[in-house]
Formats: sequence, C-alpha cells, structure tokens
Amino acid sequence: MEKYVMADAERIPVYREADVVVVGGGIAGIAAAVAAARQGKKTVLLEKNSALGGLATLGHVCIYLPLDDGRGHRVASGLAEELLYTSIRYSYNTMAPQWKFRTAYAEHPQGRYETTFNIPAAILAYDEMCEEEGVETIFDVVFSEPIMNGSRVEGVIVESKQGRVAVLGKQFVDASGDADLMARAGADTSTKDSICSHWAYETSTETAKEALAEGKGVVDMMQLRLFGARPHGGDLDAYPVPTFSGTTIDGVNGYLKTSRRMARDYLKENFSDDYCMLTLPTMAQFRTSRHITGVETLDYETDAERYRDDSIGIISNGIGGPVVQPYEYPYGGLIDRRIENVYAAGRTVACDEKMGWEMMRLIPACALTGEAAGTAAAQASEQNTTAQALDVAKLQEVLTRANVVIHIPEEMKGNAGQPTTVEADPRYQHKTHIRFSSAELNAGFKKMY
Ligand SMILES: Cc1cc2nc3c(=O)[nH]c(=O)nc-3n(C[C@H](O)[C@H](O)[C@H](O)COP(=O)(O)OP(=O)(O)OC[C@H]3O[C@@H](n4cnc5c(N)ncnc54)[C@H](O)[C@@H]3O)c2cc1C
Repeated sequence: MEKYVMADAERIPVYREADVVVVGGGIAGIAAAVAAARQGKKTVLLEKNSALGGLATLGHVCIYLPLDDGRGHRVASGLAEELLYTSIRYSYNTMAPQWKFRTAYAEHPQGRYETTFNIPAAILAYDEMCEEEGVETIFDVVFSEPIMNGSRVEGVIVESKQGRVAVLGKQFVDASGDADLMARAGADTSTKDSICSHWAYETSTETAKEALAEGKGVVDMMQLRLFGARPHGGDLDAYPVPTFSGTTIDGVNGYLKTSRRMARDYLKENFSDDYCMLTLPTMAQFRTSRHITGVETLDYETDAERYRDDSIGIISNGIGGPVVQPYEYPYGGLIDRRIENVYAAGRTVACDEKMGWEMMRLIPACALTGEAAGTAAAQASEQNTTAQALDVAKLQEVLTRANVVIHIPEEMKGNAGQPTTVEADPRYQHKTHIRFSSAELNAGFKKMY
C-alpha cells in the first residue's frame, strides 16, 4: 500500500480478560480452547465468523481424514479423535465398521478411520462442546492487532459491532489459519499462495432416485462437487493455474470471486428443475496462506518415524496413500524464537512447504497441534513462564493424561512402502462423493481463468 492516513490515538475499552485467549474457531482453535479450559483456565475463543469449524464447516471440508496408518493402527489420538466423534454427534457418518464398532482389525480389514459429516450438525455440536467445557466463544469479532509489551502479547484488539475493543490475556493461541496474530506480533513467518478450488453440495432428482433404488440413505442423495484446480489430480507445475494469497485483501477477494464465478458458470450450464445446488462455502478455501518458521520444524522427506524429544503427539498423512508413515510433531514447531506467549495451532504451524504443509494442514493434524497449543498455553499460565522456557516434559505428561500418544510405538514402525492388502468393502462405499466438472479440470480451468 502506498498511501497512508494517520489515525488518532484511541482509548479502547477492555471487553474481556482471560488466562488463555484463542484467535480463530476452526478445528485447531476449538481443540486449543477445549484443551486450555480442561486445564481449569479461563478461556476465550474469538471467531470472526458466526459459527465454529472454520474450513471444516464454513469452508465445506466435511471429510475428517484418517486417524490411522492404513494398517489398523490408530495414529492421531486425544482431541484429534474426540473431535471426529463430536463432528458426528448429531450427524450421519461414513465410518468403516471396524473403527466404528472397534471390532478387531484382522476380522474387518477394510476401510480407514475417517468419516464425512453433516456441516450444520457439526457446527451445533462444536458449540455444545465448547459450552460444556466452559469455553467462552465470542463470534463476530475480527482480531486486528496485538497489544505488545516487548516480545510479550498483553492483549488483542478486535473489531466488533461495538467498534474496537481489547481482550487481555496471559497466553495466546494463534489458530487463525493464517498466522495473523503471530505475524503481527513480529514472529518469523512465511507465505505460500493457494490454488483455487472449492466444494459444494448438490443433489438432483436422478441422484436421489438412484440412491433410493440402491437401498442407500440420505448421505447418498447428495454429493460434493469440486470446482477449480485439483491439487492431487494433475501436474500443477505443468498447468499454471492461478493462485491467490490468503493474507491480502486482493488475494482473498480474488479467490472468493473466482471460486463463485466457477460455480455460477456451472449453474448456467446445468441448472434445471431437477438440479439443486445445496450449499456454498462461506469462507475462502485456502489450503496454505501463512505459517510460522518455528524454533523447530517438520520435514516430510526426512522426519518419518524420527524420535523427537519434544514431541507433542503423532500424526500421519491422511492423503499420503493407503499406508502411511507416522511422524512425531515437535513442540518447537508451535512457537517462535522471540514471541514469549503465543502458540501456533493448525495450518499455521512450522513444517516444510511441500508435503509437510500438506500433512499438517489436514483436520486430524490441526486438532493435534490445537490440543498441544492450548495445553501449552494453559501450562505456561500455570507455571508463569514463557513459551521458550516451558517445561516440555510436564506438557507431555499432561497430554498423555489426555490420551495423546506422544512417541511412535514399535508396532507402528517400518510400514514405509508396504502395499495395502485390503480392498474397500463395497457395503461401506458411499458415493461421497466428489464429482469433477469436466470444464473445470486443470486444463479447462487454465483456459477459463
Ligand atoms: C479445498 C480444501 C480441501 C480440503 N480437504 C480436506 C479433507 O478432505 N480432509 C481434511 O482433513 N482436511 C482437508 N483440508 C484441510 C483442512 O480442512 C484445513 O486445513 C483445516 O480445517 C484448517 O483448520 P484450522 O483450524 O487450522 O484453520 P481454519 O479452519 O482456517 O480456521 C481458522 C479460523 O479462524 C478464523 N479467523 C481467521 N482470521 C481471524 C481473525 N483475524 N479474527 C478472528 N477469527 C479469525 C476463521 O474464521 C476460522 O474460523 C482441505 C482444505 C481445503 C482448502
């Protein structure tokens, strides 16, 4: 920006004070807030939209990708697992039976530990979970800037219906998805633009009839349609599709407008009395935007099965293939080298900018780092210490008590490259259900936009 105006110094009213303040109510923010509240800390969750879930709900990413390694071992646990069940508390699910009913894997070796879920039902369940845990959720407030005291954040200023108000806290979690708080506090961050693609639910008379004729239920009467570039369906380097920045006004607007134009173009060609587009995302679907550099990082190429002293839990890549390797995620990936009391959570944590980010941005990983960040913030408030000096052994102890598995068990190691031997069981194959619009496949997309 080249032109500036000067604003008067303002007296800003303090709206709330808390032990732990979480910015952003996506999956990571929910996990962080619940984890901090479970440590007995007064916790406030600030969300700019009017519902919880972030990309998982408002961005229509209603596929809770696998918590397992494809060989029958549960990898992600703690709140990553609990939030899967919260997502389907009032919703249909598409879980494979051996996970749903916890029968022996050997008897039913089909399927992964994952599910799709109904977006409105998940929103209502996330509200309930936060209420039950004593988290105060405040909607319709946009974090705008930190109140700094050296390298410490004393509070955040949010834009609201009442104008600018301050929320003060002892510890903060940045679960904004875009590292807004970390970046404005002066942390080391980097950015990566994102391809444009969005999902929308649709149905048609034909889809509904087909599902009924096959004896299937409501979940098969609708399907997800993907508009835009396919991240894993083609060589993106060969097809230079447009990308957008998730950290600029122009980038976010460019994304939203392009993505809606694609949906509108699709409707122009396909609308009829027998077709119904059911939903549209109300949040731009940025896969990557900005994340922190961290004191430590995770490298997808070299860190599989690596023992990390400061692990806060284990994770695997839900889109990495039928069989995937586990990773221990380091506490140092949640914190900046200077900022004393802010923890990153979700798709803002430190990792390499290729497959590492692809893995750490998935819902189970966001829940895992969210839980660790919220617990760390609560612990730092308890110990009256900084993020850099936090007693990590104590953090691991608290996470272990919350059912998080910290280090990779022996039986999970050595799976690299092992082919999966199992076929999906057709009884549990739902149409969920991604359809690609031919005109919107990569090549067409390139020509159109
Ligand atoms: C197209 C697409 C497909 C995907 N597919 C899958 C999939 O199939 N399965 C899977 O597991 N993952 C998938 N992902 C990844 C996953 O959905 C997200 O990365 C994950 O949900 C991010 O969670 P988060 O909590 O870190 O961030 P977000 O969900 O982005 O949450 C951030 C929250 O912070 C709020 N916020 C932002 N800025 C501010 C501010 N300044 N003040 C206040 N609040 C603020 C936002 O409104 C939002 O609620 C996909 C992502 C995309 C984009």
